[in-house]
Amino acid sequence: ERLLTADLSPDDLEVERTLRPQRLEDYCGQSHIKRSLRILIEAARHRGECLDHVMFSGPPGLGKTTLATVLANELGAQIKTTSGPAIERTGDLAAILTNLQPGDVLFIDEIHRLNRSVEEVLYPAMEDFALDIVIGKGPAARSIRLEIPRFTLVGATTRSGMLTGPLRDRFGISFRLDYYAIDDLAAIVERSARILGVDIDADSAHEIASRSRGTPRLANRLLKRVRDYAQVRGGGSIDLSISQESLTFFEIDELGLDWMDLRILETLARTFRGRAVGLSTLASAVGEDPATLADVYEPYLLQCGLMVRTPQGRQATPAAFDHLGCDRVSAKES
Ligand code: ATP
Repeated sequence: ERLLTADLSPDDLEVERTLRPQRLEDYCGQSHIKRSLRILIEAARHRGECLDHVMFSGPPGLGKTTLATVLANELGAQIKTTSGPAIERTGDLAAILTNLQPGDVLFIDEIHRLNRSVEEVLYPAMEDFALDIVIGKGPAARSIRLEIPRFTLVGATTRSGMLTGPLRDRFGISFRLDYYAIDDLAAIVERSARILGVDIDADSAHEIASRSRGTPRLANRLLKRVRDYAQVRGGGSIDLSISQESLTFFEIDELGLDWMDLRILETLARTFRGRAVGLSTLASAVGEDPATLADVYEPYLLQCGLMVRTPQGRQATPAAFDHLGCDRVSAKES
């Protein structure tokens, strides 16, 4: 089991429910989004109208679902939650839409995974708050239009490039979430520790934050692990030495790299001596499937500037050599 994957694991469910911020003031970071949302929400409330449909995109674990909940709370609206893969047939979506109350927020997670026929039902619903229903079959078939309550659709996606143009165009508001700065993540760790009743000092919150890959879900997950370690090996409180000791124990280094990340970098720097290498060669050298290597491991290494993709292949950067404490010149010559 990999600790540092940002996808939701069953272990996270319970704790995420407890830790999820409910109001904008508790939502740390992403200040440009919060600033805009505050104005949009206030304007909508002032006019007594629904907020325009909103799209949140960005990598997993950055707080898209949380933001949808916060948005509904700030609007004083009810939120109904579903996801792209859960709406299999057009009838499923029609049932959801006809059960909405005026002003509700409908949150569709992984909206890029809606199938095409379901998506087509969504277009008039978003635009005209109407549902086009076909009655009968063959030449006798006719279409009737059913009005549905006005609502705000909030869509979330980790793959904005997979959204179709017509769907994307129907969102009046769109935000892309960025990876978090360490100070914002430290604030999230401190807030979560308060809720969990864990005693933690500022340096330790910063230490956990700096190894969390810019991702709140990972920050909370690491906090839970450090808490367990502190309970068993320390007195229960988390100070800098216990947090460093526990993160070393869980094999997460100062940049938030785990053993597999390091193995990839070591292979590029030492085995291939800093030369460019093709994806499948690298994958077989580290014993991983090429697609998993490209989709799961590479993005963070690229983002940290530890690895580059060139037309010739994958290559360790000078920063990777420095991080590994490996001399570039001798690696090339040996
Ligand atoms: P996915 O793409 O996997 O659905 P997501 O982007 O919807 O992920 P969330 O489920 O909203 O991510 O966030 C994961 C957890 O991280 C939340 O339960 C919440 O506790 C915490 N979290 C996320 N963003 C913030 C934030 N800005 N402030 C405080 N906590 C946050």
